[in-house]
Amino acid sequence: MSKTAIIIGITGQDGAYLSRLLLENGYRVIGAVRRSSTLTLPRLAEMRVIDDIDLRTLDIQELPNICRLLEETGADEIYNLGAQSSVQVSFAQPIYTAETAGLGTIRLLEAIRLTGGQARLFQASSSEIFGRTQGGMVTEATPMQPRSPYGVAKLLAHWSLVNYREAHGLFSCSGLMFNHESPYRGLEFVTRKITANLALMACGGQKILRLGSLDARRDWSFAGDMVQAMWLMLQHDQPDDYVVASGITHAVRDWVNAAASCLGFDIQWEGEGVNERGFDRASGRELVAIDKNFFRPSEPEALAGDADRARKRLGWSPQVNFETLVEMMAKSDYDRAKSGGDWF
Ligand code: NAP
Repeated sequence: MSKTAIIIGITGQDGAYLSRLLLENGYRVIGAVRRSSTLTLPRLAEMRVIDDIDLRTLDIQELPNICRLLEETGADEIYNLGAQSSVQVSFAQPIYTAETAGLGTIRLLEAIRLTGGQARLFQASSSEIFGRTQGGMVTEATPMQPRSPYGVAKLLAHWSLVNYREAHGLFSCSGLMFNHESPYRGLEFVTRKITANLALMACGGQKILRLGSLDARRDWSFAGDMVQAMWLMLQHDQPDDYVVASGITHAVRDWVNAAASCLGFDIQWEGEGVNERGFDRASGRELVAIDKNFFRPSEPEALAGDADRARKRLGWSPQVNFETLVEMMAKSDYDRAKSGGDWF
């Protein structure tokens, strides 16, 4: 018999890739979406999965709403991707971030416990919960010291999940996921902002790309690889927590250089600090400038994740490397810019 899965946060980047994976694996997919006056589901439509998903209204802030959905569907697996997911926004909206990314998870755990269901839960946790470390690769055992309201909220969710697993025997797994990107990444995130803006410039656009720290480093993976890890966690005999990462860091500057080169530019950097600028070597055209407003009030250290446990126990390994990921996103955004299609 086919399994039923609920995806909370199905309208986002990971929701699109995960729904395609689960449908390919024969699941009945319930997509939990927030009520909105202008509900559009562009990622699910473009991925051609929307007609195969049973959409239900759900807000992670409303406990009775969650309980009802669990009772109505009798789901086997629940994937909680729903959250205010931007670190930058979390500094301006710390309370809402805590409500969705932190307390939202506790409501979900409590709903599973109250309804007595046997559903397995995947929680989208984040490398941002590690924040400040003593250096070296991050593993599941690395002490957690978040450096943003988002990281603090995800830490609350993470320890709550561990507590429900130990205290109530819930089959729940926390994916300690490092940054992951795709052509469906939100436009406010730095990787997508770079590929979208450079693609528009390559098609004649005039707006230059304004960025914060070019030297901030991240461990970037492909979202399609991440959702594979999410699914594998819930198929294992034992629930556990897993670091999911590529193990390699790159600087924002590396991302800009790689994307620019895919789009026909060759960047020459001039100046220092907030006065640094990037020019196209051939035409002299200014492409990149630094904007103080995009610096974070506090940065996590340059963290790389060690996904050894996921590799050994789940048989997980990433299929898409940094260069291929940048190229995939640059090409997709170039096609959007060229065709004048919708941006999302
Ligand atoms: P995303 O594109 O921003 O998607 C977030 C999803 O959460 C959207 O579907 C959003 O719905 C939903 N949501 C927000 N508030 C909600 C609420 N109150 N009730 C129900 N749903 C709500 O994020 P993503 O990149 O797919 O990431 C998926 C999850 O992984 C997130 O929890 C994120 O924090 C976590 N994560 C992501 C990364 C990464 O690099 N991408 C790394 C580590 C962890 P609307 O469309 O209605 O806004």
